Amino acid sequence: MVKKRVVITFPHQLVEKPITYHLVKDYNLIVNIMKARVMPNEEGLLVVELTGKKEDLEKGLKYLHEIGANTQSLTSDIKWDKKKCIHCTACVGICPTKAFSVNREKMTVTFDKSKCIACGLCVDICPYHAIEIIL
Ligand code: SF4
Ligand code: SF4
Repeated sequence: MVKKRVVITFPHQLVEKPITYHLVKDYNLIVNIMKARVMPNEEGLLVVELTGKKEDLEKGLKYLHEIGANTQSLTSDIKWDKKKCIHCTACVGICPTKAFSVNREKMTVTFDKSKCIACGLCVDICPYHAIEIIL
């Protein structure tokens, strides 16, 4: 059995397609959904951990490409530069695993690296370039 964490983005035409159902039913994969953003008329986004036999995983990813979805593996690491952070909290709302969190009393942001799945969603949203992907 192998595990792979993947960010899946797909055009709005596919929003109503039961993508995860097919991955489970047709490709015998265990799908752990870490984040889902599926809105009518908007690009869909899923952050998932897929578990299964290597060949099933490859077939499942091929299926995603065939239907027009994009996949990006989560193999990078994330570095937070505390000195650049001004605790604006923009990263807190977007983080699917709560690796970034805010202490509401002190209004300070903290980063728990052990919770980070390196999906990269926080990198572009940080206005102060305090978050970096390390390849
Ligand atoms: S890359 Fe950023 S958004 Fe993604 S899990 Fe890690 S801290 Fe959260
Ligand atoms: S988005 Fe950037 S500046 Fe804002 S709290 Fe997160 S790391 Fe800090």
